[in-house]
Amino acid sequence: MSDLNELYQETILEHNKNPRNFREIEDADKKALGNNPLCGDALQVYLKLDGDIVKDVAFKGSGCAISKASASMMTQTVKGKTRDEVQILFDEFHKMVTGELNAETDENHLGKLKIFAGVLEFPARVKCASLSWHTLSAALQGDDSVSTE
Ligand code: ZN
Repeated sequence: MSDLNELYQETILEHNKNPRNFREIEDADKKALGNNPLCGDALQVYLKLDGDIVKDVAFKGSGCAISKASASMMTQTVKGKTRDEVQILFDEFHKMVTGELNAETDENHLGKLKIFAGVLEFPARVKCASLSWHTLSAALQGDDSVSTE
């Protein structure tokens, strides 16, 4: 577990310093604003869809290192995926950070996202880690905002 913790911390710091897809998509098909009042994270997620496929995804906003790093890795992961695949990843991610899924032993598609199992040791951070996923899901469903409260 200490190896995972080290990887977790390094990855979070690196993505926080240099977030991927950190921009606005001006002609986005869908967008939503996600708020995590507990921590003060506020992220806007933008989506371009091609039929059922996420053609482009980006985010902007401000938040703690975990929420930004999670959003950064979320955008990397879901680009090119179908809505169904995104939904499966969201479910698996949510189950992992709430302890319902063991990313090491249970079958899943999380790949690099497994490092976020590290938030299990910091329950206050679970909402930070899942904020971008809730926001993405809201955008896909046509909602323009979501709050983790
Ligand atoms: Zn946060």
